[in-house]
Amino acid sequence: MAPTTLYGRILTPTGWMHGELTFDQRVIKLNEASTRVTVSEDLPIILPGFIDLHVHGGHNVDIMQGNRSAIDVAKIHARHGTTSMLGTTMTAPEADIEHALRGLSKAIREPEKDAARILGVHLEGPFLSPKRLGAQPPVVIEATLALTEYFHAIAPIRVLTLAPEIAGHLGLIPALSAMGIRVQIGHSAGSYEDGVAALRAGVAGFTHLFNGMTGLNHYQPGMVGAALAHANYAELIPDLQHVHPGAIRTALRAIPRLYCVTDATAATGMPDGEYSLGSQQVFKCLGCVRLASGSLAGSALTMDQALRNLVSLGLALDDASNRLSRFPADYLGVQDRGRIAPGAWADLVVLDQQLEVRHVFLEGRLLNSGSNPP
Ligand SMILES: [Zn+2]
Repeated sequence: MAPTTLYGRILTPTGWMHGELTFDQRVIKLNEASTRVTVSEDLPIILPGFIDLHVHGGHNVDIMQGNRSAIDVAKIHARHGTTSMLGTTMTAPEADIEHALRGLSKAIREPEKDAARILGVHLEGPFLSPKRLGAQPPVVIEATLALTEYFHAIAPIRVLTLAPEIAGHLGLIPALSAMGIRVQIGHSAGSYEDGVAALRAGVAGFTHLFNGMTGLNHYQPGMVGAALAHANYAELIPDLQHVHPGAIRTALRAIPRLYCVTDATAATGMPDGEYSLGSQQVFKCLGCVRLASGSLAGSALTMDQALRNLVSLGLALDDASNRLSRFPADYLGVQDRGRIAPGAWADLVVLDQQLEVRHVFLEGRLLNSGSNPP
């Protein structure tokens, strides 16, 4: 692959740089602009590609459909600047999860052009609390090591969400962590004390913080309290529908490496109407995805919109970018993505001054449709 050079405002691990970025599949070098060149503020903005650790679907496709669905979903999200993602399952009967995992396994092993790289699986369910399912269908299964190992052998699980207060789950956390899985608390009716015990047992993060867990009350701090008091990492859905901006600001002060996910569903990138989420029927209306009952059911968010939302809340662009790329990469222990540095994969998103995506590079290759996201 012949090297490409881009000129712009480049976010590097040590801060902003005006200059040139040269890459083939990986970043080759960064050159600061010579002081004789006038630096214009309307240079293109070059950020590391987004890394979304919680994606269910997009463009009327749901990863639970198995087969090619994960690749199709990865293509849609790539157009919005996502260069890596975790394919996320829903609570479902074992055979349905297995079907989704088989599709994901192929998508992970045989990545396609123009599709975000799928780094593994986020197993969200079936090890959840029947009391806090949200949009997850009522098919919870009590977690066992054997079942997790069985799933993990089909497709690599990088993140697993469970409710730690369910009998048997707390004791499993050390073994799951030892498998290299980041265990997260989510869809949980557990108390603050359950959360602290789970963190001690090796829990690494929280799934869509605030949503699907017990809230903070000053006498009963709940799972949210456990996260705010003790977590280093947690995921959050910044569509400004799932979490009030004030709660986002609270979490930003409390959790150093709060990072963002979309929790995007099949309705993402589609007009208002009726869609499926796993086995559930959902409705997209006014930017939200809801069950017939009215409760939120995943999102219609994309990572470029997440970036604009964070900046609209007053976050500096570099801070917002870290929460969409670098922190999720660090969380997974991936050192050669999520940052623009020599040797890292050339996963790049090029934005204009309005933070609209202009171009996306996936491992150095320009995405065909990068300039016109749907
Ligand atoms: Zn989800």
